[in-house]
Amino acid sequence: MDGMTTNDLSHVVDADRAHVWHHLSQHQQYMNADKSAQIDPRIIVEGKGMRVWDQHGKESIDAVSGGVWTVNVGYGRESIANAVRDQILKMNFFGGTVGSIPGALFAEKLISKMPGMSRVYYANSGSEANEKGFKIVRQIAHKRYGGKKHKVLYRDRDYHGSTLATMSAGGQDERNAQYGPFAPGFIRVPHCMEYRKHEQDGAPDENYGVWAADQIEEVILREGADTIGALCLEPVTAGGGVITPPDGYWERVQEICKKYDILLHIDEVVCGVGRTGVWFGYQNYGIKPDIVTMAKGVASGYAAISCCVTTEEVFDMFKDDSSDPLNYFRDISTFGGCTAGPAAAIENMRIIEDEDLLANTLVMGDRMVANLQALSEKFPQIGDVRGKGLFVGAELVSDRATKEPMSEQLVGAVVADCNKNGVIIGATNRSVPGKNNTLCFSPALIATTDDIDEITDAVGAALGRVFA
Ligand code: PLP
Repeated sequence: MDGMTTNDLSHVVDADRAHVWHHLSQHQQYMNADKSAQIDPRIIVEGKGMRVWDQHGKESIDAVSGGVWTVNVGYGRESIANAVRDQILKMNFFGGTVGSIPGALFAEKLISKMPGMSRVYYANSGSEANEKGFKIVRQIAHKRYGGKKHKVLYRDRDYHGSTLATMSAGGQDERNAQYGPFAPGFIRVPHCMEYRKHEQDGAPDENYGVWAADQIEEVILREGADTIGALCLEPVTAGGGVITPPDGYWERVQEICKKYDILLHIDEVVCGVGRTGVWFGYQNYGIKPDIVTMAKGVASGYAAISCCVTTEEVFDMFKDDSSDPLNYFRDISTFGGCTAGPAAAIENMRIIEDEDLLANTLVMGDRMVANLQALSEKFPQIGDVRGKGLFVGAELVSDRATKEPMSEQLVGAVVADCNKNGVIIGATNRSVPGKNNTLCFSPALIATTDDIDEITDAVGAALGRVFA
C-alpha cells in the first residue's frame, strides 16, 4: 500500500470512532467500555482495480463493488480522475436553470443507449432520482386527472431509497420500522420470486411469472385504475434478495400498465449502466418504460450523480399548457448543477464501451453462477443461485426441502469468514427475519476468471468452515 502505515492511521481511526456516524451500523461494537470487546471501525484506504486495502494494510478482493453495487469500472481509474479534474478546474458548478457541457454531452450519450427514452434530469442519489420520478407522477395527476391518478404502486421486497417518500414506497419492512408515518398514496403489490412461490397462496406450478403479474392487476382493480399513476419496480430486485424475474412476468406487467394507462417507472439504481451485462436491466426483458432512474454505476462512485430519465411523452406533459403558471416541473437539486458527475459519467461509459465490459460481464456472470451452482452440489445450505450478469445471489437455507431460511447469524458467519480471508462479499439486509439469507456478489465489470474463481473458492472454504 503506497505510503501508508498502520501507525499513520491510528489518529484517523480514533477520529472516526469519536465522530463519524456510520451508515447502517450499530456503534456499540466500536465503543465498548470493555476495550477487549471493542473492534476498530474499518477504514478503506486505497483501491486499485478489483482490490482494496484497509487501515491495517490488509488487501481484499472486493466482490461487491464498493460494498453497495457501485464501482462498476473498478478502483483507481486515472482517466476518470483526469476528466473530473479538467472539468472542475474549468467550471465546477452552476446550479438552477442553466446547463453545462458535460451535462449536455452525457445526456446525449446516455439517451443513445436507451432507445425510446429522451430526457435526463440530474440529481445526486438513487433516492433523490426516485423522488423526482414520484413527483413527476404526482404532478401529471394534478395536471391531467384532477389529482386523482396519483398513487404509486411498489412491490414487496423492492427498495427505492432512504428518504421518507422513497421509504413510503419501500418493500422491506425492517428498513421502515420506527420511521413512520409514511406518505400516503403508495400502495404495495406482491413480489414475484419463483424460488419462494410456495409462500404465496394460490401460486401455480406453471406460468408463475404471469400469475405474479396478475397479482398486480388485482391490486389495481381493488384500488381503482383511475387512482394509479405509476408502477415502480426494480428490474432485478437487489437488496431484497437478488431476485431475477421468471419468464412471462415483465411482458404481462407491461401489458397491464398499458391497459390501465399506468406509467412504468423502472428503478435501475443498481442494475443501470452495465451491471447485468446490458446497459440497463430492463433491456433484458424487452420493456418500454416511461421513467427510468439510475445512480450507483452511472459514474462508478467517482462522483455523485443520479438521473431520472423520461420519454418525450412524459416530458411533453409539462409543456402542454402555457396558460397554467404551474405547468413546468418545479423541482431543483442544488448539486444536480455539479459538473463532476456527468464528466465522470462520460468517461465511465467510454471505459465500459472501449474495454467491452458488457460482454465481459455476461461471461463472468455465467462463470460465477456456474461456480456457485457447483458449490451447491457440495453444500446443501445453498438453496438457490440466481443472477443476471455480475449481479448474483446465493440463497442459504437450513433445510433444502422446506427452504427454511438460514439464520442471520450463520449467514453473517459466512460473510465474516470470507471477509477475514480477504474476500469482501455481502448479504441481503440484516434484521429481516427470514429474508436476510442471500449472499450477494456484484464484482466490478472488469473481473477476470481468476477473480471470479478466487471469490467463489473463498465462499466454498467459508461454507466448509461454518458448516463443518
Ligand atoms: N434504489 C435501489 C434499487 C437501491 O438499491 C438503492 C440503494 O441501495 C436506492 C434506490 C437508493 O439509492 P441511494 O442510496 O443512492 O439513495
